[in-house]
Formats: sequence, structure tokens, C-alpha cells
Amino acid sequence: MHSAIKRTLEVVERRNHSEPVFLQAVHEVLETLGPVVEEHPEIADLNLLERLCEPERQIIFRVVWKDDAGNVQVNRGFRTEFNSVLGPYKGGLRFHPTVNMGVIKFLGFEQIFKNSLTGLNIGGGKGGADFDPKGKSDDEVMRFCQAFMSELFRHIGHRRDVPAGDIGVGAREIGYLFGQYKKLTNSYELGVITGKGVSWGGSQGRTEATGFGAVYFAEEIMQAAGDSLEGKSCVISGSGNVALYALRKLNDLGATVVACSDSSGAIFDPKGIDFSALRLIKEVERERIEKYCEIHPSASFRPKAKVWDIPCDAAFPCATQNELEVDDARKLVQNGCKLVCEGANMPCTPEAIKVFHQAKIPFGPGKAANAGGVAVSALEMQQNAGLEHWPFDRVDEELRRIMRGIHTSCLHYADKYQASGNYVAGANIGGFLRVAEAMMCHGLI
Ligand code: NDP
Repeated sequence: MHSAIKRTLEVVERRNHSEPVFLQAVHEVLETLGPVVEEHPEIADLNLLERLCEPERQIIFRVVWKDDAGNVQVNRGFRTEFNSVLGPYKGGLRFHPTVNMGVIKFLGFEQIFKNSLTGLNIGGGKGGADFDPKGKSDDEVMRFCQAFMSELFRHIGHRRDVPAGDIGVGAREIGYLFGQYKKLTNSYELGVITGKGVSWGGSQGRTEATGFGAVYFAEEIMQAAGDSLEGKSCVISGSGNVALYALRKLNDLGATVVACSDSSGAIFDPKGIDFSALRLIKEVERERIEKYCEIHPSASFRPKAKVWDIPCDAAFPCATQNELEVDDARKLVQNGCKLVCEGANMPCTPEAIKVFHQAKIPFGPGKAANAGGVAVSALEMQQNAGLEHWPFDRVDEELRRIMRGIHTSCLHYADKYQASGNYVAGANIGGFLRVAEAMMCHGLI
């Protein structure tokens, strides 16, 4: 390992010893940068790696709100403004009980490289709260969002920091957050948040973007290997925003998705999961996934189960970090899986990724494969700035072009730095180089 990388990892571990997922994300990126640091001594001279691993700013705040029973509740809110060298901080908000500063920092760190890979002018950030929207009434969610924004509004702005959705934050939450921002600032600043409703400044295709983008990326991988997704049997973890629209695009391309999941368990349907039924249950009714089996008797529910032991040609982890572990990876390989493409952020553990690489199964890392969401968010900002509203087909075409570009970049940088076909190395190096070059231009700040 290059001495500059080793030294940076030591410093980062010492400073952030209580944040394991952040350390995991940093290791995963830095360990692939050896040949680049070798080729560019100025990276070490300017201590660029350590600077990159330290967020520009972190905000932690108290969120006080009242539940329907009249009890006063306290949550903790976070925003990491990680790196603004390529543009305003950009990254979603996650509302989930497992959220803490380490989780937000891992997501913010990933976001720097992902946003860079899109080729657009967006920096990296992430935020959220340890609030669980599950089981809360609409009124409770609204009051929480208003309380959350009552602090966050001081730190964001369309040229400063532009949040969006993530786990637990969809169109409903974005609406309440924007409403409160508008009230507090007395200005209709559309570009301050993305993922808005299409009727009030949102972009066509933003809801679909991350899932569609991940499937476009997977299709590029298959094509590079002389194959396609048509006729392939697939499994997807999760049944939220990313999972649902990956399912829909896979169906469009002639693949069959035989399993999906949520945190209660997995459903298996050999006939293929019906997108409309699952969308209704998860997106509209906000119900548990087991309900799907009441509508489709060909499906069965497996409580607390994952989807990775179900034989498939392609696997799409689309739920959460570290959900696909080494034994799951071995099972997928044994069952003949030909492709793994991450819709979620860091869903595969480092040991699982090693299994895929050893088995020579093409593996698309999240920071490349799920960049479609943030890319279309940037297109939403562009439409807001120009007072424009593009039709769905135009956004979808742009998304396809961007995903194709990211795929090409990954292969190019992997090839150039002696890691042919390794999408992890290609994504990390491609994302890093653009950020590093801009940091050098901006001087020591
Ligand atoms: P949603 O909240 O819409 O859906 C999340 C899904 O994952 C749900 O099915 C949820 O099940 C499941 N899940 C969440 N946490 C856990 C857990 N700890 N254990 C098991 N299952 C879990 O989120 P998104 O679809 O938006 O996000 C999914 C992933 O994609 C995340 O990693 C996110 O960071 C990433 N991502 C999202 C983007 C976007 O545009 N939305 C953009 C880029 C990346 P349940 O309903 O039971 O909680």
C-alpha cells in the first residue's frame, strides 16, 4: 500500500474510531487509489487524501416535535457538508432509527465520488435524522419535517446545499420540508430541494431515476460482456423507491424479478413480481410486503428472510448498507448468478465483493450504479433555474446518456490503472480524479 494512503488511513481511523461504516467507505475508496497516488506525487504533497476524508462542515441539531398523543418527542438531526469543490453540496436526507453521524458521513463521502462521476457540477453532502416515519400518522410526519427544517433552513440554499430524499424520505416528506423552508424564508426557492412533486417544480422521471439508472447501468455491464438482461431471472432486495423502479425497468427490458423484500421478510413469485400491485402496497398504502401474497397466490412470504439464496441470473441489492454478506455472496455464486449491481449505497460488504471478484462476476458498485437519482436531481435543479419543465422522455434520455457515460468512465479508468473490468476501482478512480483536480485548482482551503 502507498505510504500516503497508509498514513491517511491511520489518521482517519484515529479520528473516527467510533464510526465503522464511515471507515469502511473510506477504506474501500482509498485502497483502490494506489496507482493514481503513485502517478501523481502532488496528491501526497498536498495531503489531498486526508483533506478529502474530513468533511468541510458537520451540523448536529435537536429536533423537538409533538406526537398525536400530545407527548413531546426529541430526535437528533444531521447534515454533513462534505465537499463543495465541484458545486453546491448535494445529497439526500435519511429518516431511519439507525441514523447517526457515522452513517451520514459514510453516505456523504460516497456522494462526493458519485456526484463527480455524473460529470455534473454538484458537491457531496448527506443528512437525516434518527426519526422513524414507520407507523407515524401524516400529521406526525408533517410536524417532524417542520421541526427538522426549522433548523436545517439556516444551512441550505440552491447555491449552497441542496438536500433530496433517501430512506424514509419520499415525495410526502419533501413536500412538508419545502413548505416549511418557504414559510421560514418567505421565498419560493424551488432549487433548494429536489424530489419535489411534478406539479410544483419537481422533475418528471425523478421518482424512477435511481432504479431505472441502476438497471441501465446493469444493461451496459451485460452488453460489455456480450449479453443482455432480456430473459434473465433477477432478485431485488427492498421494495422502496429504488427497488420498485428497478423492478419496473427490469420488466420493461424483458427480465423477470422473482423476489423482493422489506425489513419484515421476502416474497418469492416464480411467475414474476407484479410492479403495480407491489407499488400500491408499498408506495401508496405503506403496508408490509406480505400483503402481496393475498393478491398473488403464486407468491409466498418468507418471514425475516433475505432474497440472496433464491437462484437468479442477476442480483440487485436495493435496501441498505451491508445487507449482502459473504455467505450471501457465496450462495449467489453457487447458484450461477452472472451479475450483481448495487441500487443501494454500500449494500455489499467488502468480503462479499471479494467473492464476486474472485468468481469473476461483474459487480456494479453503488456509487456508479445508483448515480441516476442524483443526476436527475441535478437536472431538476437545472429545470428550476431555467423555469423549464422537461417531458419524461427527455429526462429519461438524459439519464440513459449519463449512466452510459459513467459506465464508460468506470471501464476506462479501470483499464488505465491496471484493474481491467474492475468497476469498483474504475468508479473510485474516475470519481476521485475530477475532485482532486478541482481541489488542487482551488488552493489550500
Ligand atoms: P426507501 O425508504 O424507499 O426503501 C428502503 C427499502 O429498504 C424498504 O423496502 C425498507 O424496508 C428496506 N430497508 C431499509 N432499511 C432496512 C434495514 N435496516 N433492514 C432491512 N431492510 C431495510 O429507500 P430508497 O429506496 O430511497 O433507498 C434504498 C437505498 O438506495 C439506500 O441505500 C439509499 O441510500 C440508496 N439510494 C437511494 C436513492 C434515491 O433516489 N432514493 C439515490 C441513491 C441511493 P422497510 O420498508 O421494511 O423499512
